[in-house]
Amino acid sequence: MSAETTKAPHGGLRIYSSLSRELTPLVPLTPGHVRMYVCGMTTYDYCHIGHARAMITFDVVYRHLLERGYAVTYVRNHTDVDDKIIARAIENDEDPLALSQRFIEALDEDLARLGLRVPTAQPKVSESIPEIIELVGKLIERGHAYAAPAREEGLSDVYFAVESFEAYGKLSGKRLADLRAGERVDVDSRKRHPGDFALWKAAKPGEVSWESPWGAGRPGWHIECSAMSMAALGEGFDIHGGGIDLIFPHHENEIAQSECGTGHAPYAKVWMHNGHLTMGEAKMSKSLGNIVRIRDILDAVPAEALRLLYLEAHYRGPLPWSSDRLTDSMVALDRLYHAKELIEGLEALGNGPAPGDLLRDQTEAVSELIGLLQHFEGRFLAAMDDDFNTVAAITLVHELVRSINRYGNNKKLLKKAHSLAAPAQSAFAMVGRVLGIGGGTSEQWFREVRVRRLAAIGKTEAEIQSLIDERLGARAAKDWARADELRLTLDGLGVVLMDGPEGTRWRMRVE
Ligand SMILES: [Zn+2]
Repeated sequence: MSAETTKAPHGGLRIYSSLSRELTPLVPLTPGHVRMYVCGMTTYDYCHIGHARAMITFDVVYRHLLERGYAVTYVRNHTDVDDKIIARAIENDEDPLALSQRFIEALDEDLARLGLRVPTAQPKVSESIPEIIELVGKLIERGHAYAAPAREEGLSDVYFAVESFEAYGKLSGKRLADLRAGERVDVDSRKRHPGDFALWKAAKPGEVSWESPWGAGRPGWHIECSAMSMAALGEGFDIHGGGIDLIFPHHENEIAQSECGTGHAPYAKVWMHNGHLTMGEAKMSKSLGNIVRIRDILDAVPAEALRLLYLEAHYRGPLPWSSDRLTDSMVALDRLYHAKELIEGLEALGNGPAPGDLLRDQTEAVSELIGLLQHFEGRFLAAMDDDFNTVAAITLVHELVRSINRYGNNKKLLKKAHSLAAPAQSAFAMVGRVLGIGGGTSEQWFREVRVRRLAAIGKTEAEIQSLIDERLGARAAKDWARADELRLTLDGLGVVLMDGPEGTRWRMRVE
């Protein structure tokens, strides 16, 4: 076994839990093994930028836990049985499960493009019906649920009795008395308490349904996550995550069902919630159009730009969406890959003086960069250990990038800096593994930008190349006026020319 896999996990990770309302040290139930469940998507449409925030938040949690040496079982479900799916299926005259499957496939595609690591398991409601029926049965047996009087012979709804669970409200802070006070007009008289919620819904004509002890029907929304999480992870596990909007009623109800069904608490030790993505007043830019679907944005910018936009806000806070932020991310990544290009150049030079010898130059640029590289890994991981503080972690990345680019401007120093290539590459590799940003080569980045920018302006590489060749021809013929005119044309298209000893190279500006 390699040293990597036998390495004991680092124990300094602290997570803010919405349940305890404080930073909690991560102490897995099974030492060295973290079990995590995250509420996935209801698949009846394409994934949008709000969904992507939750997906990326927990992708980074997953990646950081792995980086810290934990074994991680990460379960994220697909809700493929739901009112919205059924309504859309009726609209489309399509089978609801087929519609849902279509969007699960689209989601998988989008999330792969976003660079998300695939969870350990992705259960679906339609494939978890026996587990759901078993849990509902247990809740009735234990006196926490009841079948309401049938609306139709042999078909009953089953409700969870919120008054049967003393701890109801412990996650959201809501009290049963308040739920009663906030009673809606359309209250269902068959419920014993207005806060009672459906575990099983009797089949309605034309709806997808399964046989159960309460007649044909389908699960209510909340029960699925209790059943699927416990089937995959056991009756108690370490982390439960989801968007902040799920705290009530979804997660409150999950706790009630799970702890009443098993008779022991806690169902999940730590509850993590990511903040909302808010649409500010600023309009999206014309070049992007008014887009909200992930796939449309990924056609316009590389996935890393979107990841950086999300991760530059703390996951628990709100994130105001704006196309300016997306442009800022593009500019920041362009600087990062400029730094990488310099480092790749140093790597290609082979061995050179050791960092200590470089320090003898005593220039500020050298000592700053060497210092940053020496402490980068420790500081980066410490930021991530502090409740996944990606904002602090990314600030360190920007610092490093600035320092490399400043160093890179000094051609004399650059000739001697070979030994900085390895630590810099290892720093970028770690950032790539944990945040999914900065892990590629500079060539990959500039190509991704080129493809998208050319598509946006409706030009091909060959067309750009022929303008460049024409400019070279004009220069060779000493037709300076024409050469200048062509340079301006290229500049107007967003083409950056780099005249060098090996000829003229070019790339596209990020905006
Ligand atoms: Zn859920």
